[in-house]
Amino acid sequence: MNIIPKVKNFTENGVSKISPEFTSDEKLGFCKKAFHRMVFKLYDIRLTEGEGGIKLLYDEKLEKDEYRINGAEIYASDSEGARYGLATMLQLMERKETGFTIKNTEIREKPDKDFRGFMTDLARQWHDFDILISYVDLCCLNKIKYLQLHFTDNQSWTLPLKSFPDAATKGRAYKKAEIDYLVEYAYEAGVELIPEFEGIGHSKELILNCPDEFGNIYDEEITSASALTSGVDQKIGRVDNIMCLGKSGIFENIRKMLTEIADTFKYSEYIHVGCDEAKHENWNHCALCRDYMKRQRLTSTKAAYTHFAEKIIDICISLGRTPIVWEGFPYEGTENISRDCIVVSWENVYQTGPELLESGFKVINASWSPMYIVPPKTKDALHIKRDWTVTGDNWNVYEVQHWASGSKAYGGLGLTPHENVLGGMLCQWECTPCEERERVIDLLSQTADRTWNSKDFYSEEEYYKNAEKINKLSERLYKKRE
Ligand SMILES: [Zn+2]
Repeated sequence: MNIIPKVKNFTENGVSKISPEFTSDEKLGFCKKAFHRMVFKLYDIRLTEGEGGIKLLYDEKLEKDEYRINGAEIYASDSEGARYGLATMLQLMERKETGFTIKNTEIREKPDKDFRGFMTDLARQWHDFDILISYVDLCCLNKIKYLQLHFTDNQSWTLPLKSFPDAATKGRAYKKAEIDYLVEYAYEAGVELIPEFEGIGHSKELILNCPDEFGNIYDEEITSASALTSGVDQKIGRVDNIMCLGKSGIFENIRKMLTEIADTFKYSEYIHVGCDEAKHENWNHCALCRDYMKRQRLTSTKAAYTHFAEKIIDICISLGRTPIVWEGFPYEGTENISRDCIVVSWENVYQTGPELLESGFKVINASWSPMYIVPPKTKDALHIKRDWTVTGDNWNVYEVQHWASGSKAYGGLGLTPHENVLGGMLCQWECTPCEERERVIDLLSQTADRTWNSKDFYSEEEYYKNAEKINKLSERLYKKRE
């Protein structure tokens, strides 16, 4: 049966013509709006209220996240199950000359992994607001539960904030009303947004826009000339990508920012706070940072880096949200970082996935290859092809890989099957909407299959045999950008 992700238990018996009607049990009625919307976007059919078509019914015997389908009837006991049942129904439907048909099936299943995610980089290349709406729709169709929005980086800051009105890049930020609309839209669709504020490093734009609150004050002698030998990034001189650790009020300001982000993204369990690739050595050249490290008895900038990450993570937890970080903080001081924090394993250089699991962290598998979609250069500086795919490279949630020989995941590295491997995430980095379009459509469905199913998923060949329908549906949701 050409449903993606692969359905676990099913029987199939022909097709039935049904009326364009929909009714749902009161307890599950919140899914109604998004389902009507998706049917219209995918099939150009306006469903009406009535008993002659698709029915969403309550069944208390079903487990959390589980759904059951019997012909035109979908059963669930909670919102997640209901949403997944409806998403499967979207693939069972077919538009006909008059009305529509559905495949007659019996299905009962639930996901193996909760964390089935997609991340999109909104800071390197501008993405119009309606693309974000399309991404929510794509996630909904593919039963991808989490959509992470990488709002901030060195290149731009796209998230509007009342608490720091200068932070957003002029002419390249979303409007507050758009974000509020997106939050409600995603909630209705059952897609949980993960707002990302890239903390510590990757903060050049924030520092340029709010230097008094976040910027280092480097020693006079660190100029672009002496930077050649000092290790300070030559290209950006004294305005670098890292927040000042010793600045008065720095943690209060981060708290203020995260508080507003938590208020805005009111339905989100997770906030991603970055914490990777910080040029921590630069703190040696800032008197405020040197003084702070001395007072806190931090003997190296590496230890200071972990200390800074620990502070941001604790602020996030104190706001009642679960923090997620990129793998990146060093070993030094790791014991102080809360194990409520989830680490995205991507490079397997700073700490490997197995090492993070071993030290008690929950891990999301976003191993660089094949889970990174990057601009479509045929070859990069290291002559590595970048056209890997999730099924082609035979990735699964318990396997991390990397294309670079410097990574411990080069050639593949297994993760012990454990509940602390929460799932996997496909990441789009640095692409323009045009560049990423085709690959997002294809790889998101592959990711959906291999996170919904941790073991019994489609092979590459089976996937492509079955993907035609969902690719066509996805095309309709992801409007062509010219
Ligand atoms: Zn400093």
